[in-house]
Amino acid sequence: MALLVTILLAGAQTATGQQDWDAIEVTVHPVSGSVSYIEGSGGNIGLFVGDDGVFLIDDQYAPLTDKIVAAIRTVSSEPIRFLVNTHMHPDHTGGNENFGKMGTLIFGHENVRSQMAIAGYTQEPPLITFSEDMSFHINGETVHVFKTPNAHTNGDVYIKFEASNVIHAGDVYRTTSYPYIDTSNGGSFLGTIKAYDLLIEVSDADTKIVPGHGVISNVEDVRAFRDMLLVIRDRVAGAIREGQSLEEAQAAGLTAEYDERWDSGRRIGSAATLIESVYTEMMN
Ligand SMILES: [Zn+2]
Repeated sequence: MALLVTILLAGAQTATGQQDWDAIEVTVHPVSGSVSYIEGSGGNIGLFVGDDGVFLIDDQYAPLTDKIVAAIRTVSSEPIRFLVNTHMHPDHTGGNENFGKMGTLIFGHENVRSQMAIAGYTQEPPLITFSEDMSFHINGETVHVFKTPNAHTNGDVYIKFEASNVIHAGDVYRTTSYPYIDTSNGGSFLGTIKAYDLLIEVSDADTKIVPGHGVISNVEDVRAFRDMLLVIRDRVAGAIREGQSLEEAQAAGLTAEYDERWDSGRRIGSAATLIESVYTEMMN
């Protein structure tokens, strides 16, 4: 499995290590009713279509915009009116400028806009910001966008399609690796736990949860993921109580039984990076 992943990734890189955008396939996956998600390279894009127009969640990278629009056009010919950024990262906001030029209105939490400026990002920030939540009343249903506790970053939101019973969870929740806590952009491990509690609270047994990266999940998947993180949190707390250094805690096998499934093996999503964020936060 690891070998296959390596080959697939290599297939999308040129000899100089640059991403080969032409090699990226962009596909639409149905979720429920008129809600789908688009897979390409970067975060899963939420897609909601109907007579009032196209509603998008995130937009991956700028070089993929034409392919993304072509994928949208396989399910709707309506104008692309609204786009919500789940958070600031370039693999979710890279297409903002292109969509903005097409006339799409781009929304995001106020911390997405301010933190992009602080971090010196060159991507276009959301045009319209909010502090807690907002709702879109389009295509026959209510789409509720609401802030989570600071988790992956300080600007994370969940987007719930009330009638379709679908939630796009952004990168707070991913099924590809351990969670990545971007502490340089206001992310928090303990906030991530609270954000999972919230996700569980606003879901029922039938809710389809679209992660920032990975495949459609349900509330039981999220519960199991949260419970694993509670175990890891308690083990790191134990290591701190025993006076272990961060390096000792990282070497102590605290996540051993979970690593095969969840350790990405690179900085983002690895056990070592996760333990570092838990350890650092619990020491403060
Ligand atoms: Zn992210």
